[in-house]
Amino acid sequence: MYIIDHIYINGQFVTPHGTEMFDLLNPSNGQLAGQVRLGDAEDARRAIAAAKAAFPAFSRTTKAQRGAMLQRLHDAVLARADEAAAALVEEYGGPHNTSVARSRYTANMFLDVKQVMDDHAYVKTINKSTVVLEPVGVVGIITPWNSSAWFIANKVATAIAAGCTVVVKPSELSARQNQILAECFHAADLPPGVLNIVNGRGDVVGAELSTHPDITKISFTGSTPVGKHIARLGVDTMKRVTLELGGKSANVILDDADFARAIPMAVAACYMNNGQACIAGSRLLVPSHRLDEVKRLAKMAAEAVVVGDPHDAAVTLGPIVTHQQYERVQHYIRTGIEEGAELVTGGLGKPAGLAAGYFVKPTVFAGVTPSMTIAKEEIFGPVLSIMRYETEEEAIAIANGTPYGLQAYVSSTDLARANRVAHQLVAGRVHINGIHDDLIAPFGGFKQSGIGREFGPYGLDAYLEPKAILGEHAQYQK
Ligand code: NAP
Ligand code: MG
Repeated sequence: MYIIDHIYINGQFVTPHGTEMFDLLNPSNGQLAGQVRLGDAEDARRAIAAAKAAFPAFSRTTKAQRGAMLQRLHDAVLARADEAAAALVEEYGGPHNTSVARSRYTANMFLDVKQVMDDHAYVKTINKSTVVLEPVGVVGIITPWNSSAWFIANKVATAIAAGCTVVVKPSELSARQNQILAECFHAADLPPGVLNIVNGRGDVVGAELSTHPDITKISFTGSTPVGKHIARLGVDTMKRVTLELGGKSANVILDDADFARAIPMAVAACYMNNGQACIAGSRLLVPSHRLDEVKRLAKMAAEAVVVGDPHDAAVTLGPIVTHQQYERVQHYIRTGIEEGAELVTGGLGKPAGLAAGYFVKPTVFAGVTPSMTIAKEEIFGPVLSIMRYETEEEAIAIANGTPYGLQAYVSSTDLARANRVAHQLVAGRVHINGIHDDLIAPFGGFKQSGIGREFGPYGLDAYLEPKAILGEHAQYQK
């Protein structure tokens, strides 16, 4: 049993003012694994004060200085990558292989962002004026549990590249991963106060960040309702916000697609990260005349998924993060059945032999219509909804018929056709024929999937405020 009882403020690990101890259960067996002591609003204010005090000097650092810091952050995070992967397996139930891969690209994020910073013009000439991009100020970073270290790394790296100081409020459910990351940040030896991490509850520490006048910007990843709440809290002090919220992403299989490849990939796109991914392709849109074939292929792919102990290298689907989230997924499966969807495989309850952890049966529904709850709401579990369409136009209309717009997938052997459909899908990212990676291209949502973009130059711009210098002026350097 581990105890995490320090938070990171002003370059030091300190005992929080808050005294609440929060139990951390291992999702693979439901056993108490550790406890974390939660910070409170007073801790948040101390961290904000440290970040504010560090900002003037940090905002004047050069790209070369910040580049060296990003390199040190990369090295420190990479040095602990195996330990971070082990924490991801224990604390979150992340399957072993994907946890190892994710811990490595968490470290790489710092180098990707360094490259973006080096390529980014912080001083430009626009018409007759010089435009200087200045760091926006002290940034509050609020993150969820489903990819904790990676979300934090991306936001922190980008803030550093911009010259911003930060206070991070991670999910308390990821306390062990966060602790390792905080120790890496400490090892990277940045000026005190540049990076601060305060464990605590969202409605306490998160709310303090979202209302405090010394926080200029909030970068948030999490659910749409909490994102809306944070935007409302921030408006009085006119905070800049980057909100990465939920999704109900459509995967459009056109009738000329390679079904033998596209359908197993569609199951993988829905079940990624134990089904707990905002970008999960949770709605599979298929042509009516090929529905039987799709059901057969999807059933086969879902039944080939190996659910169980995430330490086991053969396992591809671990547990859901908490009992509460498990119950939420069960609720959606029950609702799917009650509203008349056809259960193709999976269903209620736990897979055989896995009664202790929060394991969900890999589930596929067919006959799902746009008005059903499971077609509309984010489930955040391994539950795929197959929906049928008659024409390409109808497929696009169903895909876009949601308040979300984070991501979409299209499969077709005709690339011109796939691209034509991609252009009509209202989503921040559209993947053609597969699940692709690009950590420099913009990431974020249309509609209620968020505001703003992360990654690459668009992500960096969100931490910079343009200032135009007009009239007679000297040359600026940065
Ligand atoms: P959540 O409840 O929205 O929480 C996200 C973060 O916000 C947590 O750190 C949470 O603190 C904090 N928070 C809660 N209430 C707050 C408040 N009143 N003021 C300020 N902060 C507050 O999300 P979650 O349950 O952790 O994660 C699952 C959800 O996140 C899913 O709906 C998923 O779609 C979404 N998500 C989106 C993306 C994306 O990039 N678009 C990525 C991953 C996840 P607590 O620790 O106290 O909860
Ligand atoms: Mg929450």
